[in-house]
Amino acid sequence: MVKRVIPMSNGRFRYLFSLLLLLTFVLGTAMPVSAADFSERVGSMAKIAGVRVGATGNRVRVVVDATKPVEYKTMVLKEPGRIIIDIKGAWLDPGIARETDIGSRFASKVRVGQYDPETVRVVVHSEVKKENFAVFGFAGEEIPYRVVMDFGKLGGNDEYGSGDEISQADPNRPEEKDGDDETEKGSPAKPEPEPKSDDDNKDDEGKKDESPSTQKKKLPGLKGKIIAIDPGHGGCDPGAIGPTGVTEKSVTLRISMEVKKILEAAGAKVIMTRTSDVEVSPKKEKASDIEELQARCDIANKAKADVFVCIHMDSFSSREARGATGYYYSKGTASSRRLASLVQASVVRQLNTQSRGAKSCNFYVVRKTRMPATLVEIAFLSNASEEKLLTSAAGVQKAAQGVADGIAEFFKK
Ligand SMILES: [Zn+2]
Repeated sequence: MVKRVIPMSNGRFRYLFSLLLLLTFVLGTAMPVSAADFSERVGSMAKIAGVRVGATGNRVRVVVDATKPVEYKTMVLKEPGRIIIDIKGAWLDPGIARETDIGSRFASKVRVGQYDPETVRVVVHSEVKKENFAVFGFAGEEIPYRVVMDFGKLGGNDEYGSGDEISQADPNRPEEKDGDDETEKGSPAKPEPEPKSDDDNKDDEGKKDESPSTQKKKLPGLKGKIIAIDPGHGGCDPGAIGPTGVTEKSVTLRISMEVKKILEAAGAKVIMTRTSDVEVSPKKEKASDIEELQARCDIANKAKADVFVCIHMDSFSSREARGATGYYYSKGTASSRRLASLVQASVVRQLNTQSRGAKSCNFYVVRKTRMPATLVEIAFLSNASEEKLLTSAAGVQKAAQGVADGIAEFFKK
């Protein structure tokens, strides 16, 4: 959710106003706050208790921690680029650093100050375009409220090394307003709301710790098949980060390891691109995005895998977005499309989530692997309830079962 407030409609006024705001901040002429005034108001106001910065190759996240829910507004200044968030009804803990260098190409610096007695102002030095930043609020337990600012390659397409420039929005991304309707309509894979009547529904609570193969039906057609599973991200690349801080790399690994178990129990030979929290490229954290992704393709290609399934978690600036998507290479084979569609549909069936369909894409790993390949976005890590689900053992198990079922169906003639 991007809250944007442009103070004046007249362009010239807006410019002058912007300049004034900037000067006010730059020169540090924020209104003085008298001690009496301050202590009187403080009781009812939110304390800004922390400003945290995290940066990966593709994204910068600035998190402002507040002791209670706050209202905020976002302003954008050009030349130099500044994204300003005014947090209302808030006071700044004096212990917080006023200025933090970020040093990323998406944002170079963040500054924070008490702008007026009731407003804390956060200024991020950033030249990114509108589609490359997002601001949203998030209520939590440990930290009652956070204002989160993301800069850089937002959404799920950042991680696949498609070589996209930062300003290019992926046409596959849902729009904040009407994306859901549209993707539903355009969805070639039909959602199958009918849950399977076997034991899928039993394992929500107090899940038994048996091997899935003993509690699930047999998956025929997998015996002797070579299946490459690629858990997205890893090592220095966390992928998306959920509202409570769960990393995509950890979720994709957990699901993938379960998929491996299920497939092996059905007699398949499973090739994993990684089985722990590491980069796959021998160059490790020094690898470029492409080198890292090529290393994953190399493993599948060298093993002459029958199929390649890359597992990711989606993310979007709107917290509402949810559901599973199967991707296949736009210029790829009909088999890849079928694989994407089957895996996606059975993940939807297992997780009982929204079907976003199977979609064509240009992601590196499905383009450079030489067998039917799909990249499946299991669910949205940016959606609090999907984050919770995919952090639970039952959710991980269901997602894995969905992926494995889809693969098994692919081999059924
Ligand atoms: Zn990902």
